[in-house]
Amino acid sequence: MSNKVRVRFAPSPTGPLHIGGVRTALYNYLFAKQNGGELIFRIEDTDSSRFVPGAEQYIIDAFQWLGIKFDEGVSFGGDHGPYRQSERRDIYKKYVDQLIDEGKAYYAFDTPEELEAKRKEIENFQYDATTRMQMRNSLTLPKEEVERLIADGVQYVVRFKIEPGRDIHVDDLIRGDVSINSSVLDDKVLFKSADQLPTYHLANIVDDHLMEVSHVIRGEEWLPSAPLHVLLYEAFGWTGTMPRFAHLPLLLKPVGNGKLSKRDGDKLGFPVFPLEWHDPKSGEVSSGYREQGYLPEAVVNFLALLGWNPGNDQELMSMDEMINLFNLSKCSKNGARFDYIKGIWFNHQYLLKKPAEEWVPEFDKILKSNGIESTPEKEAKVVELMKQKVIEYTDNLGNKKKRNISFISDLWPLTSFFFVAPETYDKEDKFVRKNWKEGTWQEMDELAGVLSAIDDFTVEGIKDMVEAWVEARGFKPWNAWRVCLVGTGQGPDMYELAALLGKEETLRRMENALAALK
Ligand code: GLU
Repeated sequence: MSNKVRVRFAPSPTGPLHIGGVRTALYNYLFAKQNGGELIFRIEDTDSSRFVPGAEQYIIDAFQWLGIKFDEGVSFGGDHGPYRQSERRDIYKKYVDQLIDEGKAYYAFDTPEELEAKRKEIENFQYDATTRMQMRNSLTLPKEEVERLIADGVQYVVRFKIEPGRDIHVDDLIRGDVSINSSVLDDKVLFKSADQLPTYHLANIVDDHLMEVSHVIRGEEWLPSAPLHVLLYEAFGWTGTMPRFAHLPLLLKPVGNGKLSKRDGDKLGFPVFPLEWHDPKSGEVSSGYREQGYLPEAVVNFLALLGWNPGNDQELMSMDEMINLFNLSKCSKNGARFDYIKGIWFNHQYLLKKPAEEWVPEFDKILKSNGIESTPEKEAKVVELMKQKVIEYTDNLGNKKKRNISFISDLWPLTSFFFVAPETYDKEDKFVRKNWKEGTWQEMDELAGVLSAIDDFTVEGIKDMVEAWVEARGFKPWNAWRVCLVGTGQGPDMYELAALLGKEETLRRMENALAALK
C-alpha cells in the first residue's frame, strides 16, 4: 500500500444526512485536499431493514450543493469499486470464511428466544468469553451437528471470537492513545445467514482495507467500534496498513446538555439537514439549509468551525483557505455547541459579499409569490438600498429580536412598499402621529408641487430642487414625506426612494396621502 492519504465518508442510507454527518464529510474533504489525497464515497447499506429509498441520492445532492467533492465512490467512479456494500457480498464472504477456518470466528445458532432467555437469566448478559461456552454455537456443538444445521438451512450468525483481558490501543489523532480492554467487548456478529450479508462491523473494516483507507475520520459515536477495527486488521494480518483514527467531537445542543437532535432544530427553528427532506414513508417534510435560504459557502464555513479553529480568531474562510489551515490534530476533544445563531451570522456575511444582481433571481421569486412583477434593475436597486438594514422578528420561543438581514427572504417585509403603494394611512401609527402635525398637509402639498416641476427625476435632480425649497422655506419635510411615500417609518433615503419610484408613482402616492390625511 502506498502512503497516500485516502479517506472515506461512509454513510448508511437510512434517511437524510444529518448536519453532523456533513461536518464529518467536510473534515475528511479538507484533510484529503490538504494532503493531496483522495476522498471516497462509500454507501454502507448492509442493513436492509433500515434502507430508505432516496437517501443515497439525497446525500449525493447535498454534497453537490455544498461543494464537497469526492474523488471516487458511488456515482463518482474509481477503481476500488463497487462502492455500495450491498454489491460486495461475494467479497465479504471470503473474509468471513477465512476467519472461521482459522478459528477466529464461529457459527452461532442461538435463536432470538434463546438469547432473550439468557438475558433474563444473567444480569448484563454479553455474548463473550465468559458466556460463549454456554451457548449453541460451533464451539460447543459437535462438528457434525454444526454441518447438519447449516445443511438444513437453519439460520445462524458468525461471531468474532474476542480473546479477553487484552488492552487494545487505538491511536487517535485527536484523542491520543485510547486504550480499551478486550474483556468489555462482545463477540461481534460479523455475518448473518438470513440475508447472506455481513454486518456493518465486518464490511466497514474489510472495505477500509481493500479501499486502502489511510485515515478513519468520523464522529465520536464510532469510537467504540475502533478496537474491533484494530482486532480485525490483526486477525487478517493487515496490521501494517492500519488506518490512523480521528474521532471528531460531538455536536451539542444549542442550549442545555446532550447531543444535537432534530427536536432541537424543530423547537428553536433551525434545520438539522442540509436539504429539505421528504420522508417517503410518513410524508413528513423536514426543513433544509438550502431551502431556508442559506448559502452553501456559509454552511460550510459555519460547520468547519464546530470542533476546529485556525488558532486565531479568523472566522470567515473560503474553502481553499480552510484546506490550507485545517489541522486534524488541532480538533477539539470536547463537544462543539451547535450555535445556530452563529450560522445565521455566517449567512449574513456571505450574503453581503454577493453583488445585488446575485440576489435578484431569488428576490424576484419572492416578489412573484406576492403577486409583484418588477424588473431586475429595480429589484437590484432595492437590494442595494436595503441590504444593510436590520429586521425585527419573533423567534420560535416568542422573543422579539433584531438582526441584520441574513436571508434574501428577510427583504420582503422591509421592501414591500417599493412595490406596493400604501393603501391606507394609519393615523394611529406611532410614526405617522409623531410626524403629521398642524401644517404638515400644506407643507406636503407644496412639496408635491416642487416635485412635479422636476424634469431630472434622479437622486441628484430631486435633491437639488428639494434642498433649494427646504432652504428657502425652512422646512424639515423628510419624515412627513416618508409618511406619504411609505405609509410608516421605514425605508431608505427619501431621494433614493423617490427616484426609484419614479415621478409618476411618487406624485400618485403624495396625492393619495394628501387625500387620506386631510
Ligand atoms: N456507516 C457508518 C455511518 O453511518 C460509518 C461509520 C464509519 O465512518 O466508520 O456513519
